[in-house]
Amino acid sequence: MRVGLVYDPAYLRHDTGWHVEKPERLTRTLAALEEKGLLDRLEQITPRAASVEEVALVHSREYIESIEVFCRKGGGHLDPDTAASPESFAVALLAAGGTITAVEAVVAGTVSRAFALVRPPGHHALPDRAMGFCLFNNVAVAARWAAERYSFERILVVDWDYHHGNGTEAAFYRDPGVLYFSTHSAVGYPGTGWVDRVGEGPGRGFNINVPLPETTRDIDLWFVFQKLLVPVAAEYRPELVLVSAGQDGYRGDPIAGMRLTADGYGWLAAVVAEIADRHAGGRLAAVLEGGYDLHGLGECVAAIFKTWQGEPKGSAETGQVDRGVAAAVAAVKEIHREYWQCFRQG
Ligand SMILES: [Zn+2]
Repeated sequence: MRVGLVYDPAYLRHDTGWHVEKPERLTRTLAALEEKGLLDRLEQITPRAASVEEVALVHSREYIESIEVFCRKGGGHLDPDTAASPESFAVALLAAGGTITAVEAVVAGTVSRAFALVRPPGHHALPDRAMGFCLFNNVAVAARWAAERYSFERILVVDWDYHHGNGTEAAFYRDPGVLYFSTHSAVGYPGTGWVDRVGEGPGRGFNINVPLPETTRDIDLWFVFQKLLVPVAAEYRPELVLVSAGQDGYRGDPIAGMRLTADGYGWLAAVVAEIADRHAGGRLAAVLEGGYDLHGLGECVAAIFKTWQGEPKGSAETGQVDRGVAAAVAAVKEIHREYWQCFRQG
């Protein structure tokens, strides 16, 4: 079965002006996929737009309407980081809808996995506020939609973007039906994502933040996934795995500071695929979040597709795990041992 790529040229019409979150992120990524001979092997899927009702599964009606009005009046800056143009409202609906389309395709089984190459990104968008280049929270809308549409009771959202997905955390903070697992910079924007933010009420234990040092390399993130995500996923047994796939931890990224390479993202893609295969009937969909080095983003997304198309991924690099990363893993285990059996052993 082929791997799906959800894309529409309309995603280029979200005009952000002079901004790192620009249309070239997608066109350069597509060019990289083509250049590497990957594009022809993918199942290209045309997205549908999300309806206002679907976006309202996460966002308030007032907020959705305010974005529509803001764009209709010509757009501008919603906050110092976040721009919108006249067409951005429609494009943002298509980005949320594209993420839903990716989920539909993997649940229907028409593709083995799917990647939604969309913009604007979503994981910083709060239920009632745009921020961090994000208008609507694509992954959160798709998760809520899937929970309703398919009656899924356990959805795993893995967020490997350099930045903490504060919007996604907020959407599911009291919800055990979505396990949010985020690795992110301890010092980066937006300053959230502390390890002791574990969820609230019935959601306690279902929000796992792993703040990491800027020195994080491929081997370190691989270690985090093996020690934390793999055992927690085995205990949670998700019915669907979603990935907030931001590749701004890439070592050349102009606005972020980790030391990951494209190979590293290929390894992470392998880990989430194994989790999906083992627990979720293979149902795995990813959506683009960050990644601002135009060359690096294409390399990273290509590495993800290569892994999902079954190319041998090479072996994880050997070497010592960064001390700060090992300490972060220990801290997460300590705080979450109350909620997860797997962290009480060893
Ligand atoms: Zn990011």
